[in-house]
Amino acid sequence: MQPDRAYLDHAATTTLLPEAVDAWAQAASRVGNPSSLHSAGRAARRLVEESREAIADDLHVRPSEVIFTSGGTEADNLAVKGLVWAQPDRGRILCSAIEHHAVLDPVSWLGDQGCKVDWLTVDEFGRVDPETVRARLSDDVALCTVMWANNEVGTVQPIAEIARACEEAGVPFHTDAVQALGQLRVDGSLPGITSLALSGHKIGAPVGTGALVLRRDARIVPVTHGGGQERDVRSGTFDAPGIAALAVAVRHAVDHQALHAEEISALRDELISAILQVAPTAVVNGHVSERLPGNVHVSFPGCEGDTLLMLLDAAGVECSTGSACTAGVPEPSHVLEAMGVAPAVARGSLRFSLGRTSTQADIDRVVEVLPGVLDRASRASSPRVRRTR
Ligand code: PLP
Repeated sequence: MQPDRAYLDHAATTTLLPEAVDAWAQAASRVGNPSSLHSAGRAARRLVEESREAIADDLHVRPSEVIFTSGGTEADNLAVKGLVWAQPDRGRILCSAIEHHAVLDPVSWLGDQGCKVDWLTVDEFGRVDPETVRARLSDDVALCTVMWANNEVGTVQPIAEIARACEEAGVPFHTDAVQALGQLRVDGSLPGITSLALSGHKIGAPVGTGALVLRRDARIVPVTHGGGQERDVRSGTFDAPGIAALAVAVRHAVDHQALHAEEISALRDELISAILQVAPTAVVNGHVSERLPGNVHVSFPGCEGDTLLMLLDAAGVECSTGSACTAGVPEPSHVLEAMGVAPAVARGSLRFSLGRTSTQADIDRVVEVLPGVLDRASRASSPRVRRTR
């Protein structure tokens, strides 16, 4: 991050936490495979198990319920495929229409393999109605999956109610908590949660770290087969340095969540007001109150999101047109589509996401450069300019 630039894309990946880097470097400087029986191996294994205990404690689950993965995508894939495969007698999946592709794509893939997928609609604010979920639950449902908070528009779901409905119906429930951890209070012990995905690089640990919290009594079929690590659910050599860094980042995220949320939601609200002052026709997407503290998602009618993004980048502001994983793909956002945002409006959307290192100076920079950027972007997409291209 450069001092003269405003990095406002923390939902894509956030600043590394120095303590997590230290933990990683310390563990990486030591040799030893945690599965080896000699002293070096046992020391590495101890580090893995201590990290597991710390994460379990922070998320209110048992250590045996934490399965280390290479990130959120792998955790989501393991939960979705593994839980569905474990119940071949149940052929239906309930999935919210606004999931990240890490859930959406394995669910669609299972649909191609013969499962029946019921997409759960959302309202104009991006919320899933727990009563709609309840009405769709039955004993042929292998899995219900609804993300804790959305990565594009930041809408927070009524997870406790949805999980409870699933528990009452005896249906396994997975939630992708990748964006929620550190911004909201994430409790893995909520009744009805079968599995929960988290990702290290969204909370200050290195990319390539993550975990799936999986209830001990859940039936699951592994996606990767091999050395039998992680109770045979996820084979592969333990990444001891990454796991140690993840534990430090989770502890920091949980310990600082309340203060962090208070501080960045104040900056977020300031940014929203400033944008609306500069651009009165802009539309803030997502929920007014049930929204991630660090998320600002805005549509600027008459502008193209990609043009805005490039002009802002040139002016020293780094943000996103939506999910980083789909940026560059010229498809309309499935999230905005599901919320009923008109395609012409959706095209001019930007996500500013704030994080631990965001400051007032970042907001000031946006406010300073936005009027000029909007002026140039709207001229770039006006029909007269287009014809001369
Ligand atoms: N789920 C959500 C909600 C995300 O925002 C992301 C990343 O953007 C992922 C899953 C994927 O996580 P990872 O990058 O660790 O694979």
